[in-house]
Amino acid sequence: MYCLFMISYYKMYFMFKSNINGNFFRSVIIILLAGVLTAACSTRSADVKNGILPDNDIEDFHIPAVENLSGGFIFGADISSIIALENSGVKFYGFDGKEQDIFKTLYDAGINYIRIRIWNDPFDSNGNGFGGGNCDVNTAAAIASRAKKYGMKLFLNFHYSDFWADPGKQMAPRAWAGMNIGEKASALETFTFDSLMEIGKHGDIGMVQLGNETNSAMSGEYNWRNISALMNAGAKAVRRYDENILIAVHFTDPQKGHYAYSAQTLKEYSVDYDVFASSYYPFWHGTLDNLKDQLNIIRRDYGKDVLIAETSYAFTSEDGDKFANIVSDPRGFAHPFSVYGQALALRDVIAAAADAGGIGVFYWEPAWIPVGSNYETNREIWNQFGSGWASVYASVYDPKDAGIYYGGSAVDNQALFDFSGHPLPSLNVFKLVKNGASLR
Ligand code: CA
Repeated sequence: MYCLFMISYYKMYFMFKSNINGNFFRSVIIILLAGVLTAACSTRSADVKNGILPDNDIEDFHIPAVENLSGGFIFGADISSIIALENSGVKFYGFDGKEQDIFKTLYDAGINYIRIRIWNDPFDSNGNGFGGGNCDVNTAAAIASRAKKYGMKLFLNFHYSDFWADPGKQMAPRAWAGMNIGEKASALETFTFDSLMEIGKHGDIGMVQLGNETNSAMSGEYNWRNISALMNAGAKAVRRYDENILIAVHFTDPQKGHYAYSAQTLKEYSVDYDVFASSYYPFWHGTLDNLKDQLNIIRRDYGKDVLIAETSYAFTSEDGDKFANIVSDPRGFAHPFSVYGQALALRDVIAAAADAGGIGVFYWEPAWIPVGSNYETNREIWNQFGSGWASVYASVYDPKDAGIYYGGSAVDNQALFDFSGHPLPSLNVFKLVKNGASLR
């Protein structure tokens, strides 16, 4: 679209200019040339496949090196939906075009850490999964063993809920309903320890996150006395299991400038943690300078490590699975929604994390691609295998959101794989930022 618009513009410009000069033949030649260019451009448009828009006007695909990368910098990916996707029949490929274990593809691209979300019990009473990967402890264990094969460490992300926890909802697991805070803390400690015991049999746990995007609530608790009691119960379980595992807390909305307040609150309630983690989505969370400021305050004033636990960016405005995506309009963003734009956006987040002395960056769900292109078929698959963001069965737990809006992937245009499972060049940013290089 952009390419054809530009050609039309130049056609009009040249016609206007040649008419002024009164040179008819020159005008004809230019229009013919414009036609050839249009045809060439159409050929390139034919390259638009699997949702990829070509970076037509880019000649230099340089990815600048990131300075200040620490030796043990974490290049992470959260692929919690991967088992459900594979069960849905989704295939993944290597850069050579051959079908390949996605963990190998990620490892080869420089990923050294895998984040996994864990829900206590994301199933209804008949065993139907709520979706979003149906990420319980067994699913986490399956992912853990896959990651172990390539020596990748695990970052376990406990939501302490039966389904999605974020600033808008922090529901306790159904099994903890009616418990007082002491009972709930005890149940949380037991659940955490038992989960670590099980997952630890299958993989190498390096870091554990206590709650997800816990800006002002966690697991059905809405004051910091109780939230901190839960966090410390989780921390106690982690320290008891293995004192070398890093403990992370996780906040979001850095654009609101509240991280110092959050860290101060954690300090006042003596929460035991090592890493203050933040989400950073460029389309919601303000500037990178602000993010760096927020993280620097945490390091300087509270002596904690900082981490970007979630980030992503779009490579296309297209939607691959007929379930609307979170973002599709690139206007107002620093980079276009293209493969190169995505690569630069990711590179900038890594650079911001490094500038702020951060220990790493995790890309959120880089493989949550379509299970198919037909909506009706997809809906059956999402419900059967839990490969959409929520299944119809989630309504028993989350009737007001998942129960109404259940469906597929809202981030397929932010994956680092195309809609048919082939890795995008932007996946290589993780290794290219070390020295800087061309993306292609
Ligand atoms: Ca979609």
